[in-house]
Amino acid sequence: MADAAGKHIDTIALPALAPGMRWQLEPRRWRGGDGPHVHIQAAVHADEIPPLLLAHVLEQRFDALAAAGRLRGTISLLPFANPLGLAQFVGGNHHGRFELDSGDNFNRGYPDLSAALIERVLPRLGDDPARNLAQVRNVLTALLQYRPPGEPLARLKWELFRLAADADIVLDLHCDYEALPHLYAHARQWPAVADLAHELGMAITLLADDSGGAAFDESCIRPFEAVAAATEHPVPLGCEAVTVELRGERDVDRSLAAQDADGIVRFLQRRGVVEADNAAEDFDVPRATRLEAVDILQAPASGVLVWDRALGEEVRAGDALGHIVVPGQADELPILARTSGLFFVRRGHRWVRRGHHIGKVGGLDALPWRQSGALMYD
Ligand SMILES: [Zn+2]
Repeated sequence: MADAAGKHIDTIALPALAPGMRWQLEPRRWRGGDGPHVHIQAAVHADEIPPLLLAHVLEQRFDALAAAGRLRGTISLLPFANPLGLAQFVGGNHHGRFELDSGDNFNRGYPDLSAALIERVLPRLGDDPARNLAQVRNVLTALLQYRPPGEPLARLKWELFRLAADADIVLDLHCDYEALPHLYAHARQWPAVADLAHELGMAITLLADDSGGAAFDESCIRPFEAVAAATEHPVPLGCEAVTVELRGERDVDRSLAAQDADGIVRFLQRRGVVEADNAAEDFDVPRATRLEAVDILQAPASGVLVWDRALGEEVRAGDALGHIVVPGQADELPILARTSGLFFVRRGHRWVRRGHHIGKVGGLDALPWRQSGALMYD
């Protein structure tokens, strides 16, 4: 259905979880012209609430921009990407990130149609990059039309992937434990997406060729990357897809959401999706590093997690960023930084088990134990 602002709201029914239960996705779409198509989805991990509030504010902004005739491209917005995860409670506590039944991470294992795509599209490619890009999109769209999986979680991932498959730009909105705002991007898209990092005030951008696990953003890029690698013909990386980490899970705040919505609208103005007010400002390229240079801190023992250093501090390798207090034991165990750099994520839960991932430090140099293809933890 369409309203006065030209917004269409679809409903995509998902396979029933049980007799008598219905669940669905409700993507919105605003069309304003031939400019780029941006797709934005919120909270695929389900217990990451700042994206849900930001999507709510963004919808109001997009309605107002559409009503004022200021859209130049297409915007699609999925205000909640994971109804299954939104409903997962155990003993009164919300559990996102993993589906409780399978243990699968909601942001891993997106469809990889590369083999079928390559087989069908290679005979259609030529010397024109724009035409090749259109061919890849057409074949990918056709492949997504048939045989969607029937299992509910696989079907959810299929539908999310399908909704983003024709977008030029994909913003996947997440948050971390306690965190500074940061961005994950494909290494080949830097510094092209520096404008987004600038407009959202990102403390750091983390770059990888393949972080592993087939996260949503990388899965949106993979079809183009796979075809490009399989042919001598020019195939552009047709989708700029990034994971936007909106600070920490408790940073649910109207003023922060308004600030982030402003930043996204300015970014869309830079990209010609929204009519610009005036010329875009120059900016210095914000801080970025390879994901291989991010140290993921682990709890050295089970115990009480006490932080001694604040987020945003520049720390040095060997610094104790906090301690684990083991009940009944006099000596506290230090949590040591293994690289020098920006302390930008730390766990907020204060009881941890040995080996839990509890923080992140973004350094300069690749760390030998960090390998492309295995850079994320679940
Ligand atoms: Zn997440």
